[in-house]
Amino acid sequence: MSIADNLRFFQAQLADTSCRLVTVTKTHPVEKLQEAYDAGARLFGENKVQEMAAKQPALPADVEWHLIGRLQTNKVKYIAPFVHTIQSIDSLKLLQEIEKQAAKHQRVVRGLLQFHIADEETKSGLSLAEAQLLLRSDAYRALPHVQLTGVMGVATNTPDETQLRREFQELRGYFEQLKAEFFANQPEFREISMGMSADYRLAIAEGSTLIRVGSAIFGARSYGVAS
Ligand SMILES: *Cc1c(COP(=O)(O)O)cnc(C)c1O
Repeated sequence: MSIADNLRFFQAQLADTSCRLVTVTKTHPVEKLQEAYDAGARLFGENKVQEMAAKQPALPADVEWHLIGRLQTNKVKYIAPFVHTIQSIDSLKLLQEIEKQAAKHQRVVRGLLQFHIADEETKSGLSLAEAQLLLRSDAYRALPHVQLTGVMGVATNTPDETQLRREFQELRGYFEQLKAEFFANQPEFREISMGMSADYRLAIAEGSTLIRVGSAIFGARSYGVAS
């Protein structure tokens, strides 16, 4: 199956849903990204700042770049000129740096709050209580160049469907709670980013609006030396 075939498969899967595809392009060369673009992909997800910044100039300007990996504050400046959505926001400090860098470019950068839903210590993200504290703070209200548009989470790497559903439901619950408490009058707050190659079907069934799919489109990634 070619990249175009795989994209057509996902486009068909999503046709009657309100869920969109983020094509996860990390580790793949720009030729592959162009191939995906030519087959209709527009939302691209990368997890490393330098890699995204290096690829961005080679692709058409209407690509929506989504950062899906952990972001250090000192690297925000490299993507602030073009990034569409930072999906991995997990602190006020990071929001404040995005504000500062986005303001320099007179842009509004969108962001998702990343939640910890997996049962693995290594996966990062906020708790609901931490997110509520952040959103209630005066400092949060002073960020005109950042717009929060929803939530993101990475589920446990497990074949256990009951557990996966529980984690997706948990994230959706956080979304509903924050929507009611802080974003009731903001239709832009509407994204629930969950689901990857292995678990996107369940994620869509549980209300995902953005699935992040890499290997099911491009094949396995190689992180090796000579790749
Ligand atoms: C790599 C990555 C994905 C895509 O994973 P696949 O299993 O290749 O679909 C999705 N989300 C995040 C946060 C990732 O880092």
